[in-house]
Amino acid sequence: MKQTAPAEVDFALITRWIEAYFADPSAYPVRSAVEPGAVAAALPATAPEAGEPFERILADFERIVVPGITHWNHPRFFAYFATSAAPAAVAAEALAATLDVKAMLWRTSPAATELEEVTMRWLATLLGLSSGWTGIIYDTASIAGFTALAAAREALDLNIRELGASGRELPRLRVYVTEHTHSHIEKAAIALGIGRQNVVQVPTDAAFRMRPDALRDAVRGDRAAGYRPCAIVATVGTTSTTSIDPVPAIAEVARAERVWLHVDAAYAGMAAMVPEFRDLLAGIEGADSLVVNPHKWMFVPMDLSVLFVRDPAVLRRTFALVPEYLSTTDGAVTNFMDYGLQLGRRFRALKLWFVLRHLGAEGIRTRLRAHVALAQEFAGWVAAERDWEILAPHPLSVVCFRHRAAEAGDEELDALNARLLDAANATGEVFLSHTKIDGRYALRLAIGNLRTTRDDVAAAWHILRECAGARI
Ligand code: PLP
Repeated sequence: MKQTAPAEVDFALITRWIEAYFADPSAYPVRSAVEPGAVAAALPATAPEAGEPFERILADFERIVVPGITHWNHPRFFAYFATSAAPAAVAAEALAATLDVKAMLWRTSPAATELEEVTMRWLATLLGLSSGWTGIIYDTASIAGFTALAAAREALDLNIRELGASGRELPRLRVYVTEHTHSHIEKAAIALGIGRQNVVQVPTDAAFRMRPDALRDAVRGDRAAGYRPCAIVATVGTTSTTSIDPVPAIAEVARAERVWLHVDAAYAGMAAMVPEFRDLLAGIEGADSLVVNPHKWMFVPMDLSVLFVRDPAVLRRTFALVPEYLSTTDGAVTNFMDYGLQLGRRFRALKLWFVLRHLGAEGIRTRLRAHVALAQEFAGWVAAERDWEILAPHPLSVVCFRHRAAEAGDEELDALNARLLDAANATGEVFLSHTKIDGRYALRLAIGNLRTTRDDVAAAWHILRECAGARI
């Protein structure tokens, strides 16, 4: 059968589309209003047999896909951890996709490996880390966290890598977290055969921070009971409230008890670039691994997470496996496939390099400072109102709060605030999310978008108050 040549692609159309989008992402409703199933229903049941003109595909992208998009780049996106893509990084993504590198071996693209090594050193320096850390790029913090826990398990010298974790006498391994630790750690424990029941929730203090005394007791108690402590996970910037576990004191416990300390600073870690927030990573030199997510609060588009480790040899011991067809004679080079599960790796360092160069470290710091200042101002507006209340300390750019109708009990307030959130989001003007704090439903406003201004935050506050006033 005769092969048809792929139709021409008019890249200028795409460039114009992206430029128009970035000129004003708020031209779109922040949250997609499509009904469940609507996007799928607009698509044919089978793939096309014949190639189609590029213009037609792009038209369907606009007609079918774009209405189903929730716009993380919209300046009034305040949900989850608000993030946004720096246009320079989007350009880098296009170039990375064009080159279609699989950055697994140094020789499969020396520039991909070496740019990763250099940008990792740049990032370590910006975060104030000592030269003793090695950074490696993964897709997400979930995978970076899994990789760190796999290394912690290997460091126990139980030879699980070779002999497996079943069919022989092994101690029960324990991982220490708090109720505020991100769920990916528990998932990692599932995947690594540690088991959810061995993920121990250490009590927290009134500001939702791990209590080092309780941690010490838990580790010692477990040892006395025959368990084997495997890893402690401290969080700098927890997902619900951005509480900051006391890493210096936790590191002391980890050192005294000889347990691997992993620090999850996926969101807040980036702020350590700012001198006034440098203390966020205080005590980090006592940790074994650290995760920060440039794709959260450094304007690098999904996905790019960094795992820093003190001893990269443990990662290699955990993951390196070189079949003949991948063996090389390249000598003293880094082959990043040896540091994790993934073989083919995207050329992610390119977008990090573009962002660091285009915004500059100071440009990034200025924006992070502005986000924190906006969140603090918003918290001030909430705290000043009698029928609103702040529900958690807000050291960074996230504020947890609720509307408080007089005389209402917690249960009523939960329902009221859930309705209030739905009503505010239904305006299509803003998008916020929620969490639960001490069992109470909390509205959560997160600021992290390159384009968010004071007017946007003021608009969110106005909408929330209007909705509350409308007695939803
Ligand atoms: N760690 C923390 C503290 C988080 O808040 C999140 C996600 O919000 C993660 C890890 C997981 O991040 P990722 O989506 O990169 O896996």
